[in-house]
Amino acid sequence: MAIMTRAALLKGPYDIDLIEKELVCDEDGVIVKNHKMGICGSDKIFYRGKLPPKTAEFRYDPAFPFPLGHESGGTIVEVGSRVSDYKVGDQVIAFGWNNNYADYFKSKTWQLQPVPEGLNMDLASLGEPIACAMYSGLNSQVQLGDTVVIMGGGFAGQIIAQCSKAKGAHKVVVVDTLEGKLKIAKGLGTDVTVNITKEDPVAIVKELTGGTGADVVVEAAGSADSFNAASELIRHNGKFVFYSWVTEPITLNISRWHDDGLQFINTCLVHHTWQERFVWTPETLRPVITGQIDIDSLITHEFPLDQIKKAFDLADKDDTAIKIMLRP
Ligand SMILES: [Zn+2]
Repeated sequence: MAIMTRAALLKGPYDIDLIEKELVCDEDGVIVKNHKMGICGSDKIFYRGKLPPKTAEFRYDPAFPFPLGHESGGTIVEVGSRVSDYKVGDQVIAFGWNNNYADYFKSKTWQLQPVPEGLNMDLASLGEPIACAMYSGLNSQVQLGDTVVIMGGGFAGQIIAQCSKAKGAHKVVVVDTLEGKLKIAKGLGTDVTVNITKEDPVAIVKELTGGTGADVVVEAAGSADSFNAASELIRHNGKFVFYSWVTEPITLNISRWHDDGLQFINTCLVHHTWQERFVWTPETLRPVITGQIDIDSLITHEFPLDQIKKAFDLADKDDTAIKIMLRP
Protein backbone atom coordinates (compact mmCIF):
# COMPACT_ATOMS: atom_id res chain seq x y z
CA MET A 1 0.00 0.00 0.00
CA ALA A 2 1.39 3.42 -0.91
CA ILE A 3 1.16 6.27 1.57
CA MET A 4 0.97 9.89 0.42
CA THR A 5 2.87 12.45 2.43
CA ARG A 6 3.90 16.06 2.40
CA ALA A 7 7.69 16.34 2.63
CA ALA A 8 10.15 19.24 2.71
CA LEU A 9 12.36 19.95 -0.26
CA LEU A 10 15.20 22.47 0.01
CA LYS A 11 15.45 23.67 -3.58
CA GLY A 12 18.29 26.11 -2.96
CA PRO A 13 19.49 28.58 -0.31
CA TYR A 14 16.52 29.99 1.66
CA ASP A 15 14.14 28.22 -0.74
CA ILE A 16 12.13 25.52 1.02
CA ASP A 17 8.77 24.04 0.11
CA LEU A 18 6.54 21.11 0.87
CA ILE A 19 5.99 18.65 -1.96
CA GLU A 20 3.61 15.69 -2.17
CA LYS A 21 5.25 12.32 -2.52
CA GLU A 22 4.33 8.68 -2.39
CA LEU A 23 6.03 6.30 0.03
CA VAL A 24 6.19 2.59 -0.71
CA CYS A 25 7.46 0.45 2.14
CA ASP A 26 10.65 -1.54 1.41
CA GLU A 27 10.74 -5.26 2.24
CA ASP A 28 13.40 -4.57 4.89
CA GLY A 29 12.05 -1.17 5.99
CA VAL A 30 9.15 0.54 7.73
CA ILE A 31 6.98 3.63 7.34
CA VAL A 32 6.68 5.94 10.34
CA LYS A 33 3.95 8.52 11.04
CA ASN A 34 5.69 11.50 12.58
CA HIS A 35 4.73 12.89 15.96
CA LYS A 36 6.96 15.98 15.78
CA MET A 37 10.24 17.08 14.18
CA GLY A 38 13.12 19.27 15.31
CA ILE A 39 15.22 21.82 13.45
CA CYS A 40 18.91 21.03 13.93
CA GLY A 41 21.80 23.50 13.79
CA SER A 42 23.00 21.57 10.75
CA ASP A 43 19.62 22.00 9.00
CA LYS A 44 20.01 25.76 9.49
CA ILE A 45 23.42 25.66 7.78
CA PHE A 46 21.93 23.72 4.84
CA TYR A 47 19.09 26.26 4.65
CA ARG A 48 21.68 29.00 4.28
CA GLY A 49 23.04 27.09 1.28
CA LYS A 50 26.04 25.29 2.71
CA LEU A 51 25.70 21.56 2.16
CA PRO A 52 28.10 19.31 4.08
CA PRO A 53 30.53 16.82 2.57
CA LYS A 54 29.39 13.21 2.20
CA THR A 55 30.46 11.23 5.27
CA ALA A 56 29.83 7.88 6.91
CA GLU A 57 26.91 9.43 8.77
CA PHE A 58 25.70 11.75 6.06
CA ARG A 59 25.23 9.45 3.08
CA TYR A 60 23.72 11.80 0.51
CA ASP A 61 25.59 13.41 -2.33
CA PRO A 62 25.37 17.03 -1.25
CA ALA A 63 23.29 18.77 -3.92
CA PHE A 64 20.10 20.78 -4.35
CA PRO A 65 17.25 19.97 -4.45
CA PHE A 66 17.80 18.45 -1.02
CA PRO A 67 15.21 16.34 0.88
CA LEU A 68 15.68 17.87 4.34
CA GLY A 69 15.10 16.51 7.85
CA HIS A 70 16.50 13.99 10.31
CA GLU A 71 15.26 14.78 13.85
CA SER A 72 11.88 13.19 14.54
CA GLY A 73 9.95 10.47 16.26
CA GLY A 74 6.68 8.73 15.66
CA THR A 75 4.68 5.54 15.33
CA ILE A 76 5.26 2.73 12.83
CA VAL A 77 2.27 2.37 10.49
CA GLU A 78 3.65 -0.20 8.04
CA VAL A 79 6.39 -2.85 8.17
CA GLY A 80 8.11 -4.66 5.30
CA SER A 81 7.65 -8.40 4.79
CA ARG A 82 11.17 -9.16 6.03
CA VAL A 83 11.04 -7.02 9.18
CA SER A 84 10.83 -8.94 12.44
CA ASP A 85 12.21 -6.50 15.03
CA TYR A 86 9.41 -3.89 14.75
CA LYS A 87 5.64 -4.08 14.38
CA VAL A 88 2.84 -1.65 13.51
CA GLY A 89 2.16 0.61 16.51
CA ASP A 90 5.72 0.65 17.85
CA GLN A 91 7.00 4.08 18.87
CA VAL A 92 10.42 4.97 17.51
CA ILE A 93 13.12 7.64 17.46
CA ALA A 94 14.60 8.48 14.04
CA PHE A 95 18.36 8.24 13.56
CA GLY A 96 18.77 8.79 9.83
CA TRP A 97 18.52 11.37 7.07
CA ASN A 98 15.19 10.18 5.70
CA ASN A 99 13.52 13.45 4.69
CA ASN A 100 11.88 13.56 8.09
CA TYR A 101 10.21 16.97 7.66
CA ALA A 102 7.08 15.18 6.56
CA ASP A 103 3.84 13.62 7.74
CA TYR A 104 5.34 10.17 7.12
CA PHE A 105 8.86 8.96 6.37
CA LYS A 106 10.43 5.74 5.16
CA SER A 107 13.27 4.17 7.14
CA LYS A 108 15.46 1.09 7.40
CA THR A 109 15.03 -0.55 10.80
CA TRP A 110 18.68 0.02 11.76
CA GLN A 111 18.00 3.78 11.48
CA LEU A 112 15.43 3.59 14.27
CA GLN A 113 15.55 3.23 18.02
CA PRO A 114 12.68 2.10 20.27
CA VAL A 115 11.32 4.89 22.48
CA PRO A 116 12.33 3.99 26.04
CA GLU A 117 9.64 3.47 28.69
CA GLY A 118 8.64 6.74 30.32
CA LEU A 119 9.80 9.14 27.60
CA ASN A 120 6.94 11.22 26.18
CA MET A 121 6.64 11.50 22.39
CA ASP A 122 7.42 15.25 22.32
CA LEU A 123 10.84 14.49 23.81
CA ALA A 124 11.21 11.23 21.87
CA SER A 125 10.90 13.32 18.69
CA LEU A 126 14.12 15.01 19.85
CA GLY A 127 15.65 11.70 20.86
CA GLU A 128 18.52 11.99 18.38
CA PRO A 129 19.82 15.45 19.36
CA ILE A 130 19.21 14.79 23.07
CA ALA A 131 21.03 11.45 22.96
CA CYS A 132 23.99 13.00 21.10
CA ALA A 133 24.39 15.85 23.59
CA MET A 134 23.89 13.58 26.60
CA TYR A 135 26.40 11.10 25.18
CA SER A 136 28.90 13.95 25.15
CA GLY A 137 27.95 15.01 28.67
CA LEU A 138 28.21 11.47 30.05
CA ASN A 139 31.57 10.84 28.34
CA SER A 140 33.23 14.20 29.01
CA GLN A 141 35.00 12.84 32.12
CA VAL A 142 33.80 15.80 34.20
CA GLN A 143 34.67 15.15 37.85
CA LEU A 144 33.41 16.51 41.16
CA GLY A 145 35.02 19.91 41.70
CA ASP A 146 35.92 20.65 38.06
CA THR A 147 35.58 23.97 36.33
CA VAL A 148 33.90 23.17 33.01
CA VAL A 149 33.55 25.53 30.06
CA ILE A 150 30.98 24.90 27.34
CA MET A 151 31.65 26.78 24.11
CA GLY A 152 28.22 27.33 22.54
CA GLY A 153 24.82 27.68 24.22
CA GLY A 154 22.76 25.97 21.54
CA PHE A 155 20.58 22.94 22.22
CA ALA A 156 23.57 20.62 22.73
CA GLY A 157 25.64 23.09 24.76
CA GLN A 158 22.71 23.72 27.12
CA ILE A 159 22.27 19.99 27.72
CA ILE A 160 26.00 19.38 28.23
CA ALA A 161 26.12 22.32 30.67
CA GLN A 162 23.28 20.86 32.74
CA CYS A 163 24.87 17.43 32.62
CA SER A 164 28.23 18.84 33.80
CA LYS A 165 26.59 20.57 36.75
CA ALA A 166 24.65 17.43 37.68
CA LYS A 167 27.88 15.39 37.56
CA GLY A 168 29.39 17.60 40.24
CA ALA A 169 31.26 20.38 38.46
CA HIS A 170 32.13 23.21 40.82
CA LYS A 171 31.65 25.91 38.22
CA VAL A 172 30.04 25.63 34.79
CA VAL A 173 30.73 28.43 32.31
CA VAL A 174 28.77 28.83 29.05
CA VAL A 175 30.23 30.97 26.26
CA ASP A 176 28.10 32.20 23.36
CA THR A 177 27.64 35.22 21.09
CA LEU A 178 23.93 35.63 21.84
CA GLU A 179 22.47 37.14 25.04
CA GLY A 180 19.21 35.17 24.74
CA LYS A 181 20.99 31.83 24.86
CA LEU A 182 23.16 32.90 27.78
CA LYS A 183 20.06 33.95 29.71
CA ILE A 184 18.52 30.51 29.22
CA ALA A 185 21.78 28.88 30.39
CA LYS A 186 21.72 31.02 33.53
CA GLY A 187 18.15 29.92 34.21
CA LEU A 188 19.18 26.27 33.93
CA GLY A 189 21.94 26.45 36.53
CA THR A 190 25.02 27.67 34.68
CA ASP A 191 27.23 29.59 37.13
CA VAL A 192 28.91 32.01 34.75
CA THR A 193 27.94 33.15 31.26
CA VAL A 194 30.28 34.92 28.85
CA ASN A 195 29.27 36.87 25.77
CA ILE A 196 32.34 36.39 23.57
CA THR A 197 31.43 39.44 21.46
CA LYS A 198 31.82 41.72 24.52
CA GLU A 199 33.98 39.84 27.03
CA ASP A 200 37.17 37.78 26.94
CA PRO A 201 36.40 34.18 27.98
CA VAL A 202 40.11 33.42 28.49
CA ALA A 203 40.55 36.22 31.05
CA ILE A 204 37.29 35.35 32.82
CA VAL A 205 38.13 31.63 33.12
CA LYS A 206 41.70 32.38 34.25
CA GLU A 207 40.37 34.64 36.97
CA LEU A 208 37.78 32.09 38.02
CA THR A 209 40.44 29.36 38.39
CA GLY A 210 43.23 31.36 40.03
CA GLY A 211 45.15 31.51 36.76
CA THR A 212 45.04 27.74 36.12
CA GLY A 213 42.40 27.38 33.41
CA ALA A 214 39.41 25.09 32.94
CA ASP A 215 39.66 21.39 33.78
CA VAL A 216 37.32 20.47 30.92
CA VAL A 217 36.35 22.42 27.81
CA VAL A 218 33.53 21.19 25.58
CA GLU A 219 33.56 22.68 22.08
CA ALA A 220 29.93 22.90 20.92
CA ALA A 221 29.98 26.06 18.78
CA GLY A 222 32.05 24.95 15.80
CA SER A 223 33.84 28.18 14.85
CA ALA A 224 37.56 28.99 14.67
CA ASP A 225 37.11 31.66 17.39
CA SER A 226 35.51 29.10 19.65
CA PHE A 227 38.21 26.45 19.10
CA ASN A 228 40.97 29.00 19.61
CA ALA A 229 39.49 30.45 22.80
CA ALA A 230 38.95 26.90 24.10
CA SER A 231 42.61 26.10 23.40
CA GLU A 232 43.67 29.11 25.49
CA LEU A 233 41.35 28.85 28.47
CA ILE A 234 41.96 25.14 29.18
CA ARG A 235 44.43 24.19 31.91
CA HIS A 236 47.70 22.26 31.48
CA ASN A 237 46.73 18.59 30.87
CA GLY A 238 43.09 19.63 30.65
CA LYS A 239 40.41 17.66 28.81
CA PHE A 240 39.29 19.01 25.46
CA VAL A 241 35.96 17.52 24.38
CA PHE A 242 34.99 17.73 20.69
CA TYR A 243 31.31 17.92 19.97
CA SER A 244 30.47 20.19 17.03
CA TRP A 245 30.39 19.29 13.35
CA VAL A 246 32.74 21.66 11.54
CA THR A 247 31.96 21.31 7.83
CA GLU A 248 34.42 23.87 6.47
CA PRO A 249 38.20 24.24 6.94
CA ILE A 250 39.10 26.58 9.83
CA THR A 251 42.42 28.05 11.00
CA LEU A 252 43.52 26.96 14.45
CA ASN A 253 46.30 27.99 16.82
CA ILE A 254 47.14 24.63 18.39
CA SER A 255 50.52 25.30 19.96
CA ARG A 256 49.18 24.55 23.44
CA TRP A 257 47.75 21.20 22.30
CA HIS A 258 51.34 19.96 22.18
CA ASP A 259 53.12 21.87 24.91
CA ASP A 260 50.39 21.61 27.51
CA GLY A 261 49.67 17.94 26.96
CA LEU A 262 45.97 18.42 26.42
CA GLN A 263 43.78 15.31 26.42
CA PHE A 264 41.21 14.90 23.68
CA ILE A 265 37.84 13.23 23.91
CA ASN A 266 35.87 13.00 20.69
CA THR A 267 32.22 12.55 21.62
CA CYS A 268 30.43 13.94 18.52
CA LEU A 269 27.45 11.69 17.78
CA VAL A 270 25.92 8.84 19.72
CA HIS A 271 25.29 7.18 16.34
CA HIS A 272 28.76 6.69 14.90
CA THR A 273 27.62 3.10 14.48
CA TRP A 274 24.11 1.83 14.98
CA GLN A 275 25.35 -0.87 17.37
CA GLU A 276 26.93 1.71 19.71
CA ARG A 277 23.88 3.91 19.44
CA PHE A 278 21.55 1.04 20.25
CA VAL A 279 23.40 0.42 23.51
CA TRP A 280 24.02 4.04 24.49
CA THR A 281 20.73 5.76 23.68
CA PRO A 282 18.74 4.35 26.64
CA GLU A 283 21.58 5.38 28.99
CA THR A 284 21.67 8.91 27.58
CA LEU A 285 17.90 9.36 27.85
CA ARG A 286 17.60 8.01 31.40
CA PRO A 287 18.49 11.34 33.12
CA VAL A 288 15.93 13.07 30.87
CA ILE A 289 13.17 10.63 31.85
CA THR A 290 14.01 11.05 35.55
CA GLY A 291 13.88 14.84 35.18
CA GLN A 292 17.53 15.50 36.03
CA ILE A 293 17.97 17.28 32.69
CA ASP A 294 15.44 19.92 31.60
CA ILE A 295 14.68 19.73 27.88
CA ASP A 296 11.30 21.49 27.90
CA SER A 297 12.92 24.88 28.60
CA LEU A 298 15.03 24.45 25.46
CA ILE A 299 12.02 23.97 23.16
CA THR A 300 11.46 27.63 22.41
CA HIS A 301 9.14 27.53 19.38
CA GLU A 302 6.71 25.27 17.53
CA PHE A 303 5.14 25.59 14.06
CA PRO A 304 2.79 23.48 11.95
CA LEU A 305 4.66 21.75 9.11
CA ASP A 306 3.04 23.95 6.47
CA GLN A 307 4.80 26.94 8.05
CA ILE A 308 8.23 25.37 7.58
CA LYS A 309 9.53 28.42 5.69
CA LYS A 310 8.55 30.65 8.62
CA ALA A 311 10.16 28.23 11.07
CA PHE A 312 13.45 28.25 9.15
CA ASP A 313 13.47 32.01 8.78
CA LEU A 314 13.09 32.22 12.55
CA ALA A 315 15.89 29.68 13.08
CA ASP A 316 18.05 31.78 10.77
CA LYS A 317 17.48 35.06 12.59
CA ASP A 318 16.20 34.72 16.14
CA ASP A 319 18.77 34.87 18.94
CA THR A 320 16.63 32.98 21.40
CA ALA A 321 15.49 30.15 19.15
CA ILE A 322 17.19 27.13 20.70
CA LYS A 323 15.02 24.26 19.51
CA ILE A 324 12.25 24.90 17.02
CA MET A 325 9.79 22.09 16.49
CA LEU A 326 7.43 21.28 13.64
CA ARG A 327 4.24 19.27 13.90
CA PRO A 328 2.46 17.49 11.03
ZN1 LIG B 1 20.70 17.00 14.23
